[in-house]
Amino acid sequence: MNEKEILTSALAFHGHRCWASVAGVRAGLAALRTLNVSRSGGTQLHSIVEIGEDHGGMCFGDGVQYATGCTLGKGNVARQPYGKLAMTLIEKTSNRAVRVSYKPTLQQQIGESTFMKKRGMGVMPDEIPEAEQMELVALVWEAAESAVLSIGEVFTYNGEWLPETMGFEACAACGELTARAYLRCVGDKHVCIPCSGYDR
Ligand SMILES: [Zn+2]
Ligand SMILES: [Zn+2]
Repeated sequence: MNEKEILTSALAFHGHRCWASVAGVRAGLAALRTLNVSRSGGTQLHSIVEIGEDHGGMCFGDGVQYATGCTLGKGNVARQPYGKLAMTLIEKTSNRAVRVSYKPTLQQQIGESTFMKKRGMGVMPDEIPEAEQMELVALVWEAAESAVLSIGEVFTYNGEWLPETMGFEACAACGELTARAYLRCVGDKHVCIPCSGYDR
């Protein structure tokens, strides 16, 4: 996939077209290029995204996930909730890492856009006409990289990576498939956490 195809697919995955998801795609691509690694098809890479909860711009996280292949399902993305549009990408075998943050250069233009005015009135992003969604996509996508991204020096991440725990078992009470590490012993039975009555 070329970069434009990655953007198009990322936006399809995300569900609407917005400036923050594009910023995430650009940050992710820049991080891959800086570390000279390719998208994580397995768990070769790990990313840390600095979005928080319930704030504008969290869509950044989806752009990062799609571009880097560090995803919730693979378990190789973590959140450091600083409420920022920034991310760190780490190559696990070498612990080489880079942090990329999104610069506020375009925020005034973004704030004055039809898209953001409608968002401010409570219109859902996917209910805003596509052409108005695309204006902000183009703005962030076509800006010079140095205008929108701050790319740090490559550094060594202090990471210890645990191996995946393999294997599943059916809970003895509800019968649902459960990863072994999440089964609990109740009497002589292995049961899932909700069936065990334990908190975790
Ligand atoms: Zn979005
Ligand atoms: Zn159960």
